[in-house]
Amino acid sequence: MNETNSQAQWITQQIMAEMAKSHPESASPSRAISDSAQPALMVPVGISNRHVHLSREDMDILFGYGSSLTRMKAVKQPGQFAAAETVTIKGPKKAIENVRILGPLRSETQVEISIADGFVLGVQAPIKMSGDLVGSSPIEIMGPKGSVTKDGGVIVAWRHIHIPCDMAAQYGLTDGQEVSVQTEGHRAGIMQRIAVRATQASVLEMHVDVEEANAYGLTNGSLVKVIG
Ligand SMILES: [Zn+2]
Repeated sequence: MNETNSQAQWITQQIMAEMAKSHPESASPSRAISDSAQPALMVPVGISNRHVHLSREDMDILFGYGSSLTRMKAVKQPGQFAAAETVTIKGPKKAIENVRILGPLRSETQVEISIADGFVLGVQAPIKMSGDLVGSSPIEIMGPKGSVTKDGGVIVAWRHIHIPCDMAAQYGLTDGQEVSVQTEGHRAGIMQRIAVRATQASVLEMHVDVEEANAYGLTNGSLVKVIG
């Protein structure tokens, strides 16, 4: 690099540093999350217990033709809710009762379990992003009006961070990338390979399952720091 260039670079750096001091949030929106000019991204934890998403077709079989889900409790992500309805899921070894259904209905039925649930059921479910059911495990689902045997649909959900698109851009994050977070407390540690899910309607939240939460001593609302 010649002298003029390096001088120009030095001046640019000084200007950036000054801008960061006076406007920390707007100095450089596309810079990496590890940049010290921007406050760290802190993400509240949401713990997912085992649950089922149902298709219209399976809802008809399990709960009766034309039946609908009863909204019991809103969850943090907009439009989604825990339904009053539950089902029993049955694997080759055992069944697990009272598995909550999360609404609204989806195009495909999906069962999300923990690794330990898989041991109970006798199912070796792959760790997958929600919606990616290629290679997922078979299961029987039983409701009050009938039962369905699915060739696939059982996954252990890949841990992920829901983030609105504008906030993702602000922190230099893109949909689909993986990040690491630092957790605090008695079981503090670094959790890696967390998928970023950026959509307009997202609310900032990291979704982990019960086992991941327990391993790191996390509870609902615990804050974790994205470290890169
Ligand atoms: Zn989620």
